[in-house]
Amino acid sequence: MSTLSFWQSDHRDADGFCDVAIVGGGVVGASTAYWLRRQHPALRVALFERGLLASGATGRNAGFVLQGVTSDFATDVERYGDERARRLWAVTRASRDGLLEAIPPERFDFEASGSLTLAATPEEDDRLRRSARLMYEAGLPSSYLPPGDVAQRTSSKGFYGGLLVPTGGMLDPVRLVRALAEASGAALEEQHPVLHIAPQPGGFLLETPRRRVRTAALVLAANAYAPQLVPALSAYVRPVRAQMLATEPMRPCWLPAPVYSHDGYFYLRQKATGELLLGGARHRHAEAEVGYDDAVTEALQRDLHAYLAQHFPQAEGLAVTRRWSGTMGFSPDGLPSVGPIPDLPGAYFAAGFTGHGLAYGFRVGQMLAEFASGVASPADADLFDPMRLKCAAAAHL
Ligand SMILES: Cc1cc2nc3c(=O)[nH]c(=O)nc-3n(C[C@H](O)[C@H](O)[C@H](O)COP(=O)(O)OP(=O)(O)OC[C@H]3O[C@@H](n4cnc5c(N)ncnc54)[C@H](O)[C@@H]3O)c2cc1C
Repeated sequence: MSTLSFWQSDHRDADGFCDVAIVGGGVVGASTAYWLRRQHPALRVALFERGLLASGATGRNAGFVLQGVTSDFATDVERYGDERARRLWAVTRASRDGLLEAIPPERFDFEASGSLTLAATPEEDDRLRRSARLMYEAGLPSSYLPPGDVAQRTSSKGFYGGLLVPTGGMLDPVRLVRALAEASGAALEEQHPVLHIAPQPGGFLLETPRRRVRTAALVLAANAYAPQLVPALSAYVRPVRAQMLATEPMRPCWLPAPVYSHDGYFYLRQKATGELLLGGARHRHAEAEVGYDDAVTEALQRDLHAYLAQHFPQAEGLAVTRRWSGTMGFSPDGLPSVGPIPDLPGAYFAAGFTGHGLAYGFRVGQMLAEFASGVASPADADLFDPMRLKCAAAAHL
């Protein structure tokens, strides 16, 4: 929570007004703005982002557009049941397809590469085989790759089998957010943090360092940061850190699709320009990788190098050009919450994407836009109903 002094508050601009205020300029906030414009072009929408657009997890991620909500379909089925897992996959598919229709894919460097999940253990390999079978039964496209195929397609060593999901892909997340925000026509309030939200008759009063803003509806798309503005939301989302590195380009390119391995705890892609982007190893440093601190650690980055040495030795010795971290929002059950903010009528939130927000951020933005414009139950929002976490939330208060 930031504060504002007596003097600062006394010297602000005149109050502002809007119909919908969105707080958070990541993939979810920008998608919400896009959908509000598409569905209700006359609404006055303002998008507040405390840094530049995509300052948060969205601009720091690997740019994988995966399908589903964990590392593979069998895990989704085990965790959420067959019917829900199928619906969750349909939502991520609709999110990807909708995005490609809404914004020309070249505007955000989308590559329809498919995605690869590679097995680091025989147990993971069994699960990928089972996923392929379950996906076939559910009518979802995928192919299981035996170890020889994996090694050949990805120039890798030491993996068991793999699963190719042809509907996966990769993109540039900063370009994506900028394209969505531009298409939305919303008033873009960059470098403009919201410090405080107060309910008032007919809506909300937002305090910012520059002015007070009155709004009829509010969308809090701050993901991991949501509890900083509404502390009760800490029952729905907690901050977890992820680290990455990027190397100098290596040509010719040898990795045709984004690779997810070790149950999603390592992820690697190669850009068309040759750079490798590698992240993960959080599971080996679980206690340290929490909270809002934007920092990289030597211990975790060493594990990233060890991963390359073991599985992609051709990349060993490449110069590292950048190392960074980002704050993800984790939820208690792996699924985000999307819906009304408890005890704040007229305010809605989405948080807790648990490392998969690019997979369904665009579709979640559509749900938030519908909530904010008065739709009581947008299609598929029941999958992410915050009320399912009600008991945990009550215990937290
Ligand atoms: C290293 C890393 C790798 C990842 N890789 C992938 C991947 O490959 N694929 C995938 O699907 N997901 C990935 N994720 C997760 C994904 O990035 C997130 O799930 C997704 O970006 C969440 O989007 P969001 O818009 O909800 O949140 P964010 O992108 O975090 O956006 C929230 C925004 O709110 C702003 N904000 C916060 N407080 C305020 C305030 N008070 N006033 C104004 N603005 C405020 C923040 O600055 C931020 O920009 C990764 C995450 C990280 C960190």
